[in-house]
Amino acid sequence: MSEGAAKKEERRKFQAIKGTRDILPPETALWNRVEQTAHEVFATFGFGEIRLPIIEETELFARAVGGETDIVSKEMYGFPKKLEILRRATTDQIDRVDHPSKIHMFAQSLAILVLNLEQALNSSAIPTTESNRHVIEQLKKISEQTIVLWRSLSWEPSREWTEHFETARKLIKNLQIERLEESSSLRPEATAGICRAYIENNMQQLPQPVKLYCIGPMFRRERPQKGRYRQFYQIDAEVLEAVRKEVASGEWRVASKELAKDAAVDAEVIEMVMTLFDKLELQGVQLAINSIGDRNCRPKYVELLRAELSKTNPLRVLDSKLESEQKIIEKLPRIGDHLCEDCAAHYAAVKRELDLRGVKYHENWRLVRGLDYYMRTTFEITAKGLGSQNAVCGGGRYDGLMELLGGPPTKGIGFAIGEDRLILSLLETGHSPLATRHSPLLYIAWMGEKAYATAIRAAKNLRNAGFPVELPPVEQKFGKALGQADKLGARFALILGDNEVSSGEWTLKTLADGSQAKFTEPDLLEHLKKQL
Ligand code: AMP
Repeated sequence: MSEGAAKKEERRKFQAIKGTRDILPPETALWNRVEQTAHEVFATFGFGEIRLPIIEETELFARAVGGETDIVSKEMYGFPKKLEILRRATTDQIDRVDHPSKIHMFAQSLAILVLNLEQALNSSAIPTTESNRHVIEQLKKISEQTIVLWRSLSWEPSREWTEHFETARKLIKNLQIERLEESSSLRPEATAGICRAYIENNMQQLPQPVKLYCIGPMFRRERPQKGRYRQFYQIDAEVLEAVRKEVASGEWRVASKELAKDAAVDAEVIEMVMTLFDKLELQGVQLAINSIGDRNCRPKYVELLRAELSKTNPLRVLDSKLESEQKIIEKLPRIGDHLCEDCAAHYAAVKRELDLRGVKYHENWRLVRGLDYYMRTTFEITAKGLGSQNAVCGGGRYDGLMELLGGPPTKGIGFAIGEDRLILSLLETGHSPLATRHSPLLYIAWMGEKAYATAIRAAKNLRNAGFPVELPPVEQKFGKALGQADKLGARFALILGDNEVSSGEWTLKTLADGSQAKFTEPDLLEHLKKQL
């Protein structure tokens, strides 16, 4: 890099990474209100909050979300293991060995890589093949030569050495370290982590079902657009229930009660998210539901669809928004006509349960989830003001998932709310974040050393009593202080000068009308309490 370019690089302003963004006050106040409301509403339904790690083993997501899905195959943020990082770092150093001062960087990098490779080979963390042994031996030689070179301090770039480094590059490229693929990833969704936590913490031993929710950021390397980010936030809730032995034995039919119970759980989960949206006064809320059958009936339906479409993943076609495909889709067989007896009974029960709860919905036979272990209930909720990305919540039943992750047979139903979109919809439909803005109630306009000590004490007591107070850290002329109080949106200015301090009578100015009154400290607290 030239000196000029380096200077420019130094002065460069940093920006949030593509697809990520800052959420600033006063908008954060609205986020807090949404989350607070979720805490309150979910608690009334008996849900407890779970806080999960943001990184998990990549394999967990590959299994839970599906290795072949876009989310896992293209959009995950993964962390490669140490060897992969060292390998890349060493190759990068080769590109930079264009000057004698750089040789030590390469020498160090290569030495560390060789050391780690030897360890990995000895512990069979990488394939113990002849080729690997040979490559590592060769790299070790180059590493030792490079260290000698570095110590001699007389190295000049030359053709001979360029070739030498290129050999190292080729050798590094030939390393077989595929067993050490990416090992952990930022979570793209919460269900997998919740299921992992359920198994790891033996939650099947708790009274069932276990009702959990989780609020936090998710990461998907998607193409950013309005309502779609690479770091976004979800409010996720799941009901998990270890299956009793007699049910697990396959006697689903015997337990027709189970169907009714599951349907009630599904409906209650949907009722819960609708209650939250209602409390938040979310506008234009539309709930769409569907049943996608189960292991029993869905394969037959998919076969039918396949016959119609002769495409690889016929279920995905149902999701198509392409105008040209709509006519074809309208004529396709519908899953509702092909549900098995149990699924049909369950779906009918879900609808009955929703009616009982006064939850309004419409049916959308094209609402699907692509993964095999999803079954029966699926639902999606849309809201106003979001353009094409108008889904604020998606959910469904996934009775097969826990077993796929090595857990006991467990039923599951859950949903994920897109919090960014929820907030966007609230803002677009007139929920001013300013309404929840934390303006100080009271601005302390103080003058003089003595008054400052009093002002600090007053601020402490007022804040302890719960009043938002702004205490300027430096003395200001009263005129300026009052102007500042106005700008910040304070309702009152507490004026503390020498007179006030010596008399113990403080002046409170109401900024809206300019009126003033005198109070002792206890009277002031009483007066402010009445004002709120
Ligand atoms: P999913 O986990 O894909 O079922 O998504 C559940 C909800 O999360 C969706 O209905 C969206 O509201 C939200 N969501 C999913 N992906 C994104 C994203 N990239 N940016 C913002 N919100 C998202």
